[in-house]
Amino acid sequence: MSLLERFLKYVKINTMSAEGKDLTPSTPEQFNLAKVLEAELTELGLLDIKLNDNCILTAYLPSNMNSNLHIGFLAHMDTIPGFSGKDVNPQVINNYNGKDILLKGITIKTKEFPFLHKLQGKTLITTDGTTVLGADDKAGVAEIMEMLSYFISHPEVKHHHIHVAFTPDEEIGGGIDSFNVKDFGCDYAYTVDGGIFNEIAYSNFNASSAVVKIKGLDIHPGSAKGHMLNASLIAMEYQNLLPTFANPMYTEGTEGFIHLCAIHGEVGEATLEYIIREHDLKKLHLLEQQMLNAKDFLNKKYTKDTCMVEIKASYYNMYNIIKKDKRSIKKAEKAIKDLGFAVITSPIRGGTDGAKLTQMGLNTPNLGTGGYNCHGPYELACLEEMQNVVNILINIAK
Ligand SMILES: [Zn+2]
Repeated sequence: MSLLERFLKYVKINTMSAEGKDLTPSTPEQFNLAKVLEAELTELGLLDIKLNDNCILTAYLPSNMNSNLHIGFLAHMDTIPGFSGKDVNPQVINNYNGKDILLKGITIKTKEFPFLHKLQGKTLITTDGTTVLGADDKAGVAEIMEMLSYFISHPEVKHHHIHVAFTPDEEIGGGIDSFNVKDFGCDYAYTVDGGIFNEIAYSNFNASSAVVKIKGLDIHPGSAKGHMLNASLIAMEYQNLLPTFANPMYTEGTEGFIHLCAIHGEVGEATLEYIIREHDLKKLHLLEQQMLNAKDFLNKKYTKDTCMVEIKASYYNMYNIIKKDKRSIKKAEKAIKDLGFAVITSPIRGGTDGAKLTQMGLNTPNLGTGGYNCHGPYELACLEEMQNVVNILINIAK
């Protein structure tokens, strides 16, 4: 099976995850891909192949040289819940002409996506315009499988101990929570999950979430004078007390934000749901403090129980841990440079499974996949870049 065949096979399997489920995996469909991969790993002859009830699939390829180094590679199997990943009908464009790409009902325009120019002459895989492609993260899955297949068919190429894991529910968070880092037994690992093929990402947001509850006093509007407290209006006031430019609409790079995700309001009560993000943990706590200050102000202005804020930590910037042991970064940098490519590092404006794994004790930076425009019908992948990633993974494991 070629890399392209592998990729096309995996993207056609529906593995959409679903929000609001208390189960992992959030959808049983994710097992469909896990079982296909389990069979392929068995056929390749890997050891310790395990698919657990949470749809975490792991396998092991022992080193064929004198090595004590155990390296892990992970990719997630699910696609986003918000846009269809069912009946994916991938389109293969050979020798791409560098022009706008017309699909069913949409056009991928070079004007909107100028990176397309540099993909001229390459092989692209796009959606048909009606679904996601699922290159996020089946490109990563295919690349890891292709690396394993390479080492199996080239026993003369020496490599370290290789451990692989395919995991569920990355897109909704939480798929990795039950991952057993100790059983995985690696010195360090990589998620292969999106970004330019020569990118290593190891700095992500520190993240927390906040739920703000406003209690109003609901009285018939005809006799409200001097008595009514309209929770919806106070909720708007709360938002206006927060720093205007600490908003995802106005921030980039490592800059943080407070993002209002949802608001539900009536006269009697209102709820605001926020996420808070900052690369610098001290600055994250300052943003959280501003949210508490806004609450205190409203409780002084109205009555003392008007506003309640509950803040929960979600995940942390992996760099705080990785900076103490940069072996994973150095290995990946060398693997990329040895192929003649420049190394790109950029801050992740989000979290990754790797952030959680790093927190659990397994340093796990992220590598690119050669997939672009994830999470929508404009998603595409470049086959040559995917092959570059395979070569990078091989180099890392060697
Ligand atoms: Zn992903």
